[in-house]
Amino acid sequence: MTGSAGLLAIKRRGGIAVVQDPAEAMFPSMPRTALTRVEVDHCVKLSEMAALLARLASETAPELSKQTMAEDMKIEVEIAAESEAIEAGVLKFGSPSQYACPECHGVLRQVKERGVMRFRCHTGHAYTLESLLAESSRRDRARPLGRRTRA
Ligand SMILES: [Zn+2]
Repeated sequence: MTGSAGLLAIKRRGGIAVVQDPAEAMFPSMPRTALTRVEVDHCVKLSEMAALLARLASETAPELSKQTMAEDMKIEVEIAAESEAIEAGVLKFGSPSQYACPECHGVLRQVKERGVMRFRCHTGHAYTLESLLAESSRRDRARPLGRRTRA
């Protein structure tokens, strides 16, 4: 996950969201998007970031929740990821896969990051291999492109 989707996930697990002041950011759309989508704890200039992070790191962190990702969080994260996909230029994302998006039937592109396979279509639907398989079996649609059953 990138940008606000990742930040949102961190936030929802009890993390602290720190964003660079968009006024001085090289790519202001990233912090600005984060500020509109996530309840940000700190919005600071780069020159203040180090001191803030040092202070936050020295504070005692609250106990992390052990519960698994709630369904509403998954949806929110997916929405945030989707609206960022075009902005982020999803066609630069990985290489074409042999799977169709279960939601829009677009070709899913795949990328392997730290041993984890992730998929994303041109409209921004995002999957891990597990969520793709789960969604595919639920919808029974995302078969390999060359092996679709005829209607
Ligand atoms: Zn899609």
